[in-house]
Amino acid sequence: MSRWKSELDSLKKEGLYRRLRVLEGSQSPRTIVDGREVIMLASNNYLGLSTNKQVKEEVIEIVRRYGIGSGGSRLTTGNYDLHRELEKRLAQFKETEDALVFNTGYMANIGVLTTLVGKGDIIICDKLNHASIIDGCRLSKAKLRVYRHNNMEQLERKLQGAGKYRRRLIVTDGVFSMDGDLAPLDQIVNLARKYDAMVMVDDAHGTGVLGKNAGGSVEYFGLEGQVDIQLGTLSKALGSEGGFVAGSRELIDLLRNKSRSFVYSTALSPSTIGGSLASLRYLTEHPEIIEKLWNNIKFLKSGLEDLGYDLLPSNSAIIPIIIGDAKRATSLSKALLEEGVLAPAIRPPTVAKGSSRLRVTVMANHSRSDLEEALRAFAKVKSEIL
Ligand SMILES: *Cc1c(COP(=O)(O)O)cnc(C)c1O
Repeated sequence: MSRWKSELDSLKKEGLYRRLRVLEGSQSPRTIVDGREVIMLASNNYLGLSTNKQVKEEVIEIVRRYGIGSGGSRLTTGNYDLHRELEKRLAQFKETEDALVFNTGYMANIGVLTTLVGKGDIIICDKLNHASIIDGCRLSKAKLRVYRHNNMEQLERKLQGAGKYRRRLIVTDGVFSMDGDLAPLDQIVNLARKYDAMVMVDDAHGTGVLGKNAGGSVEYFGLEGQVDIQLGTLSKALGSEGGFVAGSRELIDLLRNKSRSFVYSTALSPSTIGGSLASLRYLTEHPEIIEKLWNNIKFLKSGLEDLGYDLLPSNSAIIPIIIGDAKRATSLSKALLEEGVLAPAIRPPTVAKGSSRLRVTVMANHSRSDLEEALRAFAKVKSEIL
């Protein structure tokens, strides 16, 4: 038997084997996946900005002017006027003194956690935090303590036992990526104050979605100026690529100097940065797309509930449909694909055993008829599979 075969075979036996889908279209409400036209209910492009006409045209102009690659790391030759402008706008968007762009949200988490805490410090972490936070915690060499999802009593107990550490850092997703629910950020900030801890929120799925200006969970809870470290991504609602950190001038200055995932990697290309700038500008000038997104979220959620699907109580563009068994979740997702709807199954180890689910997401530019057609497919497969 070859070296890796038994491991692969056991993944297959448990229904956990993964296969890459191939897209031949854009992140649009209707696109082409594995050669088939489908209604896209799986993209993180919540505001439809990835395919926005005005944004695309600005990017084309940027490519004509700057070319494709950035040619170096930010600290050598890869720092363009566009990078700085984007960071200024992100700081405005998040109402902080400054911001720093990383190549991905993953790299931002790694870079922040390894720079701000180390041996002698403690990180207190929600059980359902994103994998990139967990990896950053491990790499940081700080002590890691995990509390049950959104359980404030347990968080407080962990803080009570953390007095002997040099720095205490509470880190949480703002919107949890597989459950779509929110961290009780107001309570977390209060506890941090009581126990002299810093707060870091990873708002990958809140940025562009939550709050009147879609600034994210800090805006949603009215906690401007009270969260030490705000991480966001440009890769979700903003439709582009990249991660960023927003916070005080000194925090950002330190990260710029010491974050290894920032320092030792080639900068994002001018077109990617320009795309993020264009989409951020579009969002500021067209706040109606936020309302459109929320109308679609409400419509699809109530349609699925009416069909008898078991939804987690989410409060974002992420609508998890709980199935339980990994193989059943996969069959349901396959059957939906046959009906022309892309709604992927999420299985362990991404979620806990027995909580496999379909992770449905909505976009602002889904039309009513896109969503109605999708609901008809959900009705059909429910009677056939569940
Ligand atoms: C997607 C995501 C990331 C990673 O961002 P990328 O830009 O995709 O690397 C980090 N944190 C959370 C909560 C996410 O959902």
